[in-house]
Amino acid sequence: MRFGYQCEECEEAVWLAAPRSELQWLRSRRHVVREVQKHLSGGLDGWMDEGLVFLERHDGHSVVVVQGGR
Ligand SMILES: [Zn+2]
Repeated sequence: MRFGYQCEECEEAVWLAAPRSELQWLRSRRHVVREVQKHLSGGLDGWMDEGLVFLERHDGHSVVVVQGGR
C-alpha cells in the first residue's frame, strides 16, 4: 500500500514514502513546514521536500491524499 497526493484539477499524482496521516499533516501545515525548512541546515526528509514541491505547484487547486495498490 502506498500513499500520495493527487491534484483533482490537473489529474496529476505523486507517490511518497510516508503514511497517510503524515501526508494529511503536511498538507494542512504546509506553510509552517516551509518556514521551518528555511532554518534547517540538513533539510527535511526526502518525501517532505517532494510533497512540498507538489503542493506548491498545485497551490489553489484541490489536492487530495490518495491510496494506491502495491
Ligand atoms: Zn493542479
